[in-house]
Amino acid sequence: MRKILFFLIVTVFFFEWSMSQSNTKPFTVVLDAGHGGKDPGNMGNGYKEKNIALNIVLEIGKRLENIPGVKVIYTRKTDVFVELKDRANIANKAKADLFVSVHCNSHKSQAEGTETFVLGVAQNKENFEVAKAENSVIFLEDDYQTHYEGFDPNAPETVIGLTLLQEEYTDQSILLADMIQDNFANQYKRVDRGVKQANLLVIRRTFMPSVLVEVGFLTNTGEGRYLDSPSGQADMSNAVYQAIVKYKSVLYEDQSDFSFAINNNSQSEDSSTTKTKSSSEIYSQNIKDKTIIFKIQLFASSKKIVLNRKNFEGLSPVNTEKIGKVNRYLYQETYDYSEALAFLKEAQRAGYKDAFIASYEKNKQIPLTEALKKIEK
Ligand SMILES: [Zn+2]
Repeated sequence: MRKILFFLIVTVFFFEWSMSQSNTKPFTVVLDAGHGGKDPGNMGNGYKEKNIALNIVLEIGKRLENIPGVKVIYTRKTDVFVELKDRANIANKAKADLFVSVHCNSHKSQAEGTETFVLGVAQNKENFEVAKAENSVIFLEDDYQTHYEGFDPNAPETVIGLTLLQEEYTDQSILLADMIQDNFANQYKRVDRGVKQANLLVIRRTFMPSVLVEVGFLTNTGEGRYLDSPSGQADMSNAVYQAIVKYKSVLYEDQSDFSFAINNNSQSEDSSTTKTKSSSEIYSQNIKDKTIIFKIQLFASSKKIVLNRKNFEGLSPVNTEKIGKVNRYLYQETYDYSEALAFLKEAQRAGYKDAFIASYEKNKQIPLTEALKKIEK
């Protein structure tokens, strides 16, 4: 009887949870290794940008593929030439959630360090040099004048008015770019040249948050050697990998292992040692203990938004929580999971399609799977 009851509760939880997941589409990341084939990229100190970028991308992808609910698409997995517009098309066709392009820098000086670009018009001369170098690959493409609408990589002024496509994704692109740069600087003590904006063709054509990462200068003696080494490439891929995972958890939360947790629970229930409670008992126990709080995350952004009804599609109360440079905007709070599901539906109806239930124990966020396990006890 207990077992059946428990099974029923689990089924109800799972059903409610499934219903709350308006989109079960995997989180899709397009990884773009710069250059390839007849285009070696920069050859600072004799190292090949195309090979280093590919090694790093393959390593990032291998690890991302192990995460349930994540789909990885590569613009190239081997040493082949892919046109810039085709790279962007691959991502657009896949309706990807993220586009990450990996490159290595070069300079005539001993310049050193990492920088991550998002698309923007506010580029200075220095950023323009990077854009010029990375965009110049179109000269190797057939008929580039037609494909790039008369774009001239050598003229900074062609930039203006061309960035509308990416504009709505700037905020999220900066979010990821910040996370990547933080990891480079803090975990691996790389010189931090910061998050920058430039008119980069490959990310200008994507319809999703997109960044172009310059993992360092091959032209710098020490950095070139580091980037050409397996350990340097492992460091850089780990930094980017961790940032993508964090970005996903801040914006979408990882609920993909929820059915796993439930299955494991049912198994441990076979030993008949754990006591079982009805669904309403579970709720009321947590409401009494006030151990777990549920809030609805509407979205996360690097922007500071005034907390009034008008800015949140009429939803109130909304609070904010800052994690690093990211502001999370949270609607309501409750000890009652069924109420949380109702709030989530309200948020989704108000237009926040990516909203999700965030759970907290003693003011610390914990995965929803863990929270539900805890209130079942
Ligand atoms: Zn490059």
